[in-house]
Amino acid sequence: MKCFLIASVLVATCVHVQAQEKMKPEDTEFWEPVPKKVTVEGENKVPSDAIVLFDGSSLDAWVSSKDKSAAPWTVEDGIFTVKPGSGGIETKQKFEDYQLHVEWRSPLVIKGEGQGRGNSGIFMQGLYEVQVLDTYNNKTYVNGQAASIYKQHVPLVGVVREQGEWHSYDIIWTAPRFNQDGSVKEKARITVIHNGVLVQNNVELDGTTEYIGLPKYEAHGAGPISLQDHGNPVSFRNIWIRPL
Ligand code: MG
Repeated sequence: MKCFLIASVLVATCVHVQAQEKMKPEDTEFWEPVPKKVTVEGENKVPSDAIVLFDGSSLDAWVSSKDKSAAPWTVEDGIFTVKPGSGGIETKQKFEDYQLHVEWRSPLVIKGEGQGRGNSGIFMQGLYEVQVLDTYNNKTYVNGQAASIYKQHVPLVGVVREQGEWHSYDIIWTAPRFNQDGSVKEKARITVIHNGVLVQNNVELDGTTEYIGLPKYEAHGAGPISLQDHGNPVSFRNIWIRPL
C-alpha cells in the first residue's frame, strides 16, 4: 500500500512537471476584464472614483443623527469640529463594504482625562466604532484607545501624535452578512491603517459597539458613516469613501 502511494505521488509529480514544461508564458496571462483606471490627484490625494464626504466647504453630505436635520457641527477654515452637546452626525448616503479615509485632530486645548479627553469616534454602518481619542500622555483601557475597535480589538501599536497634529485613518470595512432568519452568516471584518501604520489587520467583530456589556449582532442592511459627539471639540477634514 505504501509503495503504491509513493508511486502514485511520483507519477502525479511527473505529470505535473511535464504539463508545466509544455506550457507557454501566454497560457497564464489574462487580458480581460481590464481594471477601471483611477487617478489620485490634488492636495487631498483623493482617488478619482471616491465619493467625497467632506471637501472642506460644507457638511451637505451629512445630517444630524438625532433627527436627520442639517448637521449642526461647525465648519471653518476647511475643517469641521464637533459641537459638544449637539449630538452625532451621519452621512445621508448608506454604505456596505468600502475603503474609507478620514483625518482627525484632537482639541488644541487639553482638557479631561482618559476617555474624557479628545474622544469622538467613527462608526461603520452607524454601529461599529473605530475609536478617536487623544491618547498622547493620556492613559485609558487599551481596547478604548485611539484606533481600537472600541471594547473589542486593541490596536497592534499605539500610533502617537501630539495634540494639534492631524491623524489619518484608512479603513477597509467588510460588512457582516446575515441569513434570512436573521442569524449571522459572516461576521464583519475591518482593517485600519493609522497614519500609515497597520493597526487592525482584517480583524473580525463580534457585534455592534456596546459601552456596557458584550457585543451582539442584529440583522441589518447598509448604514451610514457616523461621527460621535462625546462632548469634546475634535476636528475632521478630508473624508472620502470608495464603496467596494
Ligand atoms: Mg469614542
